[in-house]
Amino acid sequence: MAYRELQDRIRRLLKEKNALLLAHNYQRAEIQEIADLTGDSYELSVKASKTQADTIVFCGVRFMAESAKILSPGKTVLLPNPRAGCPMADMITAQQVEQLRAQYPDASVVSYVNTNADVKALSDVCCTSSNAVSIVRAVPARKVIFIPDKNLGSYVRKFVDKEMIIWDGYCPTHHHVYPAEVQRLKEQYPDAPFVCHPECRPEVVALADKVTSTSGIIKFTQEDPHRRFIIGTEEGILYQLRKNSPGKEFHLASYGFICPNMKRTRLEDVLLALEKNQEEIKLPPAIIEKARLPLERMIEMGAAALSG
Ligand code: SF4
Repeated sequence: MAYRELQDRIRRLLKEKNALLLAHNYQRAEIQEIADLTGDSYELSVKASKTQADTIVFCGVRFMAESAKILSPGKTVLLPNPRAGCPMADMITAQQVEQLRAQYPDASVVSYVNTNADVKALSDVCCTSSNAVSIVRAVPARKVIFIPDKNLGSYVRKFVDKEMIIWDGYCPTHHHVYPAEVQRLKEQYPDAPFVCHPECRPEVVALADKVTSTSGIIKFTQEDPHRRFIIGTEEGILYQLRKNSPGKEFHLASYGFICPNMKRTRLEDVLLALEKNQEEIKLPPAIIEKARLPLERMIEMGAAALSG
């Protein structure tokens, strides 16, 4: 089936089922094109929870669909390709969090939203890449266990006066970008600001003119007067950058800056997900209840940090 036809069939089914199609900024362009909402993972889950849709089709990876379920337990949440996982989220287990808690009983656990539901359920508060600094600052404890991303943790550590125990996880896609590649591009395009995601390794982040989340990258490149940029995050974002800033030029910081898991979902999977109601995310009610608390605390603390 031609991809336009697939897109039309998906849109028709979404309407029939009162379903909402969410696409993360790293998804394939043909999926972002027909999504009801595009954005960062947590931003998407919050927006979806405020709609009247019965079903959420989350084109992203598993932990994102889980977050949508945690925030919308009464809705059906579908992950069109069940193999779309996140290696970074899988780098820490609930058991390991329990061990950390026993080892550092006076520390608070701050978990990046890129974690599985059972890990969130054992956390004190969650954070996103855009509010991580303010959340770690706002946590009352002097000692913080930060999971699972060591690169985001190292970035946060520069701005907070706390003891941080940082887990050794990382996003393979962002971690495998090296300073030499960025330096080469900077020499080639000396006028182009380098805008980078904090999941990149510290040596790469050190070269950035701006460090921010994916939505932050889209906003920054829209508002900044430069006409060309070096982009330090996953390839899928190019679709949004070109759409939001037509006429500007974007160069990926690394050749092959692609998350294979984010690219697993194809239009065919989305169509099948809608036709067969698959794969439906099911979480034990106790996990939903416990995992919701650190997400709610993040909102409260983020708001307190902004007003404080
Ligand atoms: S880009 Fe990195 S953090 Fe995001 S889903 Fe892929 S592996 Fe996970």
